Amino acid sequence: MIEDDLDAIEKDMLEDLKKPKGRRILVCPVCGSTEVTYYMGLKTGYQYQCNSCNYVGAVVLEMEY
Ligand SMILES: [Zn+2]
Repeated sequence: MIEDDLDAIEKDMLEDLKKPKGRRILVCPVCGSTEVTYYMGLKTGYQYQCNSCNYVGAVVLEMEY
């Protein structure tokens, strides 16, 4: 079921946000800020939003630390 899969993905992403041991940090590709949060697109699926420059897009840098 496609819808079930999407629900599972959504749960995984939300769980990732809560996990402290994820050790990944999202970095805005425009301004380099780490104030990047998930942004829920309607038909475009998951995107990211930068709180510093208001960039919204599917492309975001991911750094491990
Ligand atoms: Zn930014």
